[in-house]
Amino acid sequence: MANIALLNRCNLRCPYCFASSYTGKEREDIDIDTFMSLLEFCQSDGQVGIIGGEPLLHKNISAIMEILSYDRRFHTVTIFTNGIFLDHVAEFLSSPVFSLLINVNSKKDIGESNFNKLRENIRLCLGIMPRDKIGLGINVYEENQDFSDLVSIIKEFGFRRVRVSVVIPNDKSEGGIPYFLRMKNTLLDLYRQLKDLGVAPCYDCNAIPECVYTDKEKEYLASMPFANMYEREIFLGQRSVCSPVIDLYPDKTATRCFGMYGSGRVSIEGFETIDDLKNYFFKEIDCRLVNIPACNSCKDCYKYKTFGCFGGCLCYKDGGKYNEESSNK
Ligand code: SF4
Ligand code: SF4
Repeated sequence: MANIALLNRCNLRCPYCFASSYTGKEREDIDIDTFMSLLEFCQSDGQVGIIGGEPLLHKNISAIMEILSYDRRFHTVTIFTNGIFLDHVAEFLSSPVFSLLINVNSKKDIGESNFNKLRENIRLCLGIMPRDKIGLGINVYEENQDFSDLVSIIKEFGFRRVRVSVVIPNDKSEGGIPYFLRMKNTLLDLYRQLKDLGVAPCYDCNAIPECVYTDKEKEYLASMPFANMYEREIFLGQRSVCSPVIDLYPDKTATRCFGMYGSGRVSIEGFETIDDLKNYFFKEIDCRLVNIPACNSCKDCYKYKTFGCFGGCLCYKDGGKYNEESSNK
């Protein structure tokens, strides 16, 4: 699924924001004609993500939501939002095309009043949309992170699934595997709390490779609830791979994914369809990076040999440091 960035502004300043290299540099919101041309460009996917910055800040967000709610080329439109302005678009959310991925930030990071607004908007959306159209996400970005605000939202509204994003630091000098090893205890703390609540975790990308965990930790993770076998396999690190997502920007440029914003950004003008662009990024980026081992153990690992594990995000291999530190193997 491709994503269209409506703008690069955000009302929040989250400390971990992976978009910080993007937000703030270009001030223009996407214009409607450009938005329509990007929809046409990615129509063959049948689904599209709407991202920012915070996409609901777009000055013509009502017009954009109306266009999306009537566009029959797309069966699913996912809005990636911090949730604070969802009440501004409530009138459109009853359209079955929309899904939400609401990023739950803590009170510490966004302040009590924004957090309360987020909570009220979740309540509002649950009154409009089916529960399975509303996803919650948590960004894990610091050791010993406090997850109590996420837990309070899960308990209050009865969510049963949470998307976990292990934030890729802007400074990749540490290397992927040492970063995962350093963050592991914080993540295990989150997973224990989710398990106690009967909540299934999932990743969308940057899945932690299996070798980061000890056998005992793997046994524990395997006992968690999962929404399906595919998510279980990825969560347990049995597959840590990704393929080009394609993020499209208001100036009609594109990147393989958001993590690659700082490198490999191209104009879409030379490409006829989204599939041409995916093939281009696959050849130019994936083929160049997947053979680079993530750690010393990779070359003896069947997952490395069979393209079953990239060792987490490819960004670590694209200008980041390829670490020599071994995993738990
Ligand atoms: S391929 Fe490398 S990072 Fe992945 S599980 Fe094997 S040793 Fe670990
Ligand atoms: S390269 Fe990194 S940011 Fe991009 S899709 Fe893969 S894991 Fe995600």
